Amino acid sequence: MASYDLVVIGTGPGGYVCAVRAAQLGMKVAVVEKNPTLGGTCLNVGCMPSKALLHASEMFEEAAHSFAKMGVAVSAPKLDLPSMMNFKQQGIDGNVKGVEFLMKKNKIDVLMGKGKILGTGKLEISGADGKSQTVEAKNIVIATGSDIARLKGIEIDEKRIVSSTGALSLDRVPGRLLIIGAGVIGLELGSVWHRLGAQVTVVEFLDRILPGMDGEVAKQFQRILEKQGFAFKLGAKVTGVDTSGKTLSATVEPAAGGAAEKLEADVVLVCIGRVPYTDGLGLKEAGVALDNRGRVQIDAHFATNVKGVFAIGDVVAGPMLAHKAEDEGVACAEILAGQAGHVNYDVIPGVVYTKQAGVAYTSGKFPFTANGRSKVNQTTEGFVKVLADAKTDRVLGVHIVGREAGEMIHEAAVLMEFGGSAEDLARTCHAHPTRSEAIKEAALAVGKRAIHM
Ligand SMILES: Cc1cc2nc3c(=O)[nH]c(=O)nc-3n(C[C@H](O)[C@H](O)[C@H](O)COP(=O)(O)OP(=O)(O)OC[C@H]3O[C@@H](n4cnc5c(N)ncnc54)[C@H](O)[C@@H]3O)c2cc1C
Repeated sequence: MASYDLVVIGTGPGGYVCAVRAAQLGMKVAVVEKNPTLGGTCLNVGCMPSKALLHASEMFEEAAHSFAKMGVAVSAPKLDLPSMMNFKQQGIDGNVKGVEFLMKKNKIDVLMGKGKILGTGKLEISGADGKSQTVEAKNIVIATGSDIARLKGIEIDEKRIVSSTGALSLDRVPGRLLIIGAGVIGLELGSVWHRLGAQVTVVEFLDRILPGMDGEVAKQFQRILEKQGFAFKLGAKVTGVDTSGKTLSATVEPAAGGAAEKLEADVVLVCIGRVPYTDGLGLKEAGVALDNRGRVQIDAHFATNVKGVFAIGDVVAGPMLAHKAEDEGVACAEILAGQAGHVNYDVIPGVVYTKQAGVAYTSGKFPFTANGRSKVNQTTEGFVKVLADAKTDRVLGVHIVGREAGEMIHEAAVLMEFGGSAEDLARTCHAHPTRSEAIKEAALAVGKRAIHM
């Protein structure tokens, strides 16, 4: 029987990163994966394909609406959806190959099949060919991620009623796309199909979009999307979808109760969140405890209640984000190697860090309309907001709405890692002309001394 220092179940960003770090630290490692390809949700049906389609659809829209005003004359772009899907697939394949390479480079065994924990130190792996093998492991890390959350009574067929997975592979642009849930993933995928020509309506149970995010950011984001043509029905719920006709007919009711209305759609995207995935892992038999939301329960060192069994990523508590899973993977491997692995949960980009109970804060805001580089590029939508402790000036959070926000946020993350203040940010020389100057200006605005506003 093969024997390892560590076996990681799942090869998403949590699992494969944990495996690589453990191998770097001298452990004999194997990963187990039930899907035909490595990389998990993130590489196959999550971050990567969604970003490929966001990029391609943005280019399509730019070519149609922005090139002419920059003096780039092109005839109206034509959509070749199969080629766009091929572009997406190439991106996925490249990344999946990258993970395969990393496994080889770090001498990590890849065991294809569904992993089941048989108790401390033992796992069974059942392959798609019906064959199974048992391996020994000093330590086991559960990194089995998450799955789509389903709505009772609404059957996902991944053709007309789709989850995020189906929405990444539609074979034609839907005339009308109805999205249930105004979270990040639904809005991203809505943007893709809207740019390609779909009429998008979003139904959200709460009275706001992006639940959990800063209210001002959410409002501004909603305004931007509405300007682009999105329709929102907030404080409403879809209670059923009639699939009998040629077009789908969704029943929408006010969340607080009241008269129902029907909304017609060609495709309905159910995007109400994700749930931890532990199917077939044998956790009950192995005695691994779950919390009240079905997540694997861990202590501050990623340890479950069963000796030698650990868990990281989407399957445990915390934001379901790839970089959170990766950081946990590294920290967990380091702890297993006797080091002091640690994740700073206060500084995970994408999470709203603000308004901790009882912390008085001041804020500084700077709009991209006042930023020179954004003006010349005519990309002035959005703003930067810096929140700082009213007493100490320590930065508590930074929100950026607008283009390149995902790249720009990291100077704030580094600053926060080092406990920096708004004053530190404001006194740091920022290259001109850049959109990042708006961050400096927002930090200056905390002290009411922004220059360009
Ligand atoms: C459409 C979409 C867009 C997203 N965009 C972003 C984004 O922009 N940024 C971001 O940070 N996050 C994004 N996410 C979330 C991100 O994908 C997840 O947070 C991340 O993949 C979690 O990593 P993980 O390693 O915990 O699990 P996963 O990536 O879910 O990987 C788990 C792996 O475990 C395998 N597995 C499960 N059970 C078993 C078993 N018993 N035996 C063997 N293998 C098993 C699964 O097949 C899977 O490969 C997005 C998600 C979706 C759906």
